[in-house]
Amino acid sequence: MTNIRNLSAIIILALFSSSIAAGQSGLDQQVDRELPALVTTYKMLHTNPELSHREAKTSAYLASQLRSYGYEVTEGVGKYDRPEWKGYGVVALMKNGQGPTVLVRTDIDALPVEEKTGLPYASQIRTKNDTGQEVGVMHACGHDIHMTCLLGTARVLSQNKDRWHGTLLLICQPAEETIDGARAMMNDGLYSRFPKPDYALALHDNADLEAGKVAYCPGYSLASSTSVDITIRGMGGHGSKPEATRDPIVVAAQVVLALQTIVSRQNSPLDPAVVTVGSIHGGTRYNIIPDEVHLQLTVRAYREEVRQMILASIDRIAKGTAAAAGIPDRLAPIVTVSDTEVTPATYNDPGLIERVVSAVGRAIGAENVVKAPPVMGSEDFGRFAMEGHQIPACMIWLGAVDPAKVAKSKQEGTQLPSLHSSLFAPLPEPTIRTGVKAMSSAVIDLMSGDSRSAGTR
Ligand SMILES: [Zn+2]
Ligand SMILES: [Zn+2]
Repeated sequence: MTNIRNLSAIIILALFSSSIAAGQSGLDQQVDRELPALVTTYKMLHTNPELSHREAKTSAYLASQLRSYGYEVTEGVGKYDRPEWKGYGVVALMKNGQGPTVLVRTDIDALPVEEKTGLPYASQIRTKNDTGQEVGVMHACGHDIHMTCLLGTARVLSQNKDRWHGTLLLICQPAEETIDGARAMMNDGLYSRFPKPDYALALHDNADLEAGKVAYCPGYSLASSTSVDITIRGMGGHGSKPEATRDPIVVAAQVVLALQTIVSRQNSPLDPAVVTVGSIHGGTRYNIIPDEVHLQLTVRAYREEVRQMILASIDRIAKGTAAAAGIPDRLAPIVTVSDTEVTPATYNDPGLIERVVSAVGRAIGAENVVKAPPVMGSEDFGRFAMEGHQIPACMIWLGAVDPAKVAKSKQEGTQLPSLHSSLFAPLPEPTIRTGVKAMSSAVIDLMSGDSRSAGTR
């Protein structure tokens, strides 16, 4: 009896895995069929990048493609604080019976970088930025790869509706580079006008990893980012008469150095954090002590408590240093924490990423899925998880570099062009193939059965 039961269990298991294998090879063939058109789309998007807050054509193109695949598409989703910026977010819905709601996100904006890759489809676009300065525009962060992968995933899933059940919520998010696009979409009622997701997924290309591979980092994988302005006010005067002034330049220099003690002396070494002063401006001439100096800082951290501790320390150090220099209270430094240039950390829900990664491993080969360390860079994808990581979310890294180039750089100890570099040139075909396979398989896995247990809420 036991043997017969074992035997039938083996047969059921064998049938189950062979049906998974058959499903996978069908999916592979479909992706291969879509690939030439997707590569053409990628090159077109790459040649025509648009800066953050101005993604009009990109957004319209994505909306029309998604509509043609049968999605219910809403355009113009996103509300910024600045009324002159229009929200170019796109939401594409496909309802397919009972099941979880899964959000898949791509970002759509490009950077003010002049492309120097020399590729036949390199961007030649030039435009004026918000301050009127002429700049080149380039998809130097690979958001064109992300858009193409989302379109491929959308297409494959629309052709395989028997393999998943629930609601697909595909979102094309503007203004990731300025980290205000996700917030703009949330402010425009993303989760009240459209179904609130049970899971949120995204991918980002990786400039160190071979095309054909995927990397993942459970838990905190990208840091929160907060911009802070400090205006140090003194009492200006003649450069030859310091006794009649309160010199804000010297105070600023002391503040910059004292800020370095926050991470080294006030923060636990087990909590990663960064305080960088990226800009310092004051004064006009050799012999004038100015009235003011302006500092611009970026603060990076994983845990919210750490971020709050750092912000409080910045305020205390700036004000305390100014007081020690004899600057009166009425001229105390003004410390402003931006409420727009701020984004939470990206936290990859451990249960969800485990499940996603095993589905991706079955699709592209477990040997092509590797673990990656966390980084202190930032993304605004974390916004879609809501405060306190209410919605299990994860972002995987998509290898984008020619494997021969990765091998050469390792051998010679040279650096590959990073994301945001004018030389960043993803290898289109294997990158897009892997991205579409990985994301489609992850979604199918989450929507093909009882996926309620995937996230560790
Ligand atoms: Zn970027
Ligand atoms: Zn990016």
